[in-house]
Amino acid sequence: MSTMAIDVQNLTIRTYPDPCLRGKAAEVDPTSDEVQQVAARMIQLMHQANGAGLAAPQVGLSWRLFVTRNPDSEDGGLVWANPVVTPLESPPEPDTEGCLSLPGIEVEMTRPSRVRISAVDPSGTRFEVESGLMARVWQHEMDHLDGVLIIDRMSPMERIKNRRQIKALKKSSAS
Ligand code: ZN
Repeated sequence: MSTMAIDVQNLTIRTYPDPCLRGKAAEVDPTSDEVQQVAARMIQLMHQANGAGLAAPQVGLSWRLFVTRNPDSEDGGLVWANPVVTPLESPPEPDTEGCLSLPGIEVEMTRPSRVRISAVDPSGTRFEVESGLMARVWQHEMDHLDGVLIIDRMSPMERIKNRRQIKALKKSSAS
């Protein structure tokens, strides 16, 4: 019998300007059943929305946890709990980023092209990986754990380009 406080199956992706996107998240215990069930649900939501990654604050949970698509399989997902990302010596790279919590918005963002991530796996063991391929997704999701969104990192030009869409998001939430 389960008496979980979180209604895992009804978790949904929250969109800007939901205040849950703005907090600094707290560490979680990835060995707990509840955290593992939430992570599985997040992987499902990420795939349904065709995203590359999804962070716990995006489903309303102030947890230091995110999931990413498994690059080796169609429907898999990887779970990163209590992650720490360290940029490695690498040329910064510009690319376009979107966010499942900011539908219709795309921001050109320059980030380090290679990073190291350390995170805790579901058995409670901390592990480390380095990547260029995943560097952007990891950094984007890390930002979510500190309440930072791509619209906070926009250049003045990007701000003008996205102004109407940001306004529309604010308006749709107010109604
Ligand atoms: Zn995002």
